[in-house]
Amino acid sequence: MAIRIFKCTACGHRMRLASNYCGSCFNEKPGWQKPGSLIAMAAIPAIVVVGFFAFIMLAVPTG
Ligand SMILES: [Zn+2]
Repeated sequence: MAIRIFKCTACGHRMRLASNYCGSCFNEKPGWQKPGSLIAMAAIPAIVVVGFFAFIMLAVPTG
């Protein structure tokens, strides 16, 4: 199953999330829509959440 969120700016084709190019006209995606950027955007909140819980664990006195 392919997830198609972004429309091609050139032809309006719904592009595959995991591709760097439009599947219809092969126009290059905007940089932030590329898979690497999306992985980075997904990873940043995860790192923030993990960091927050690590901080809570260290800040709360135990025992
Ligand atoms: Zn296109």
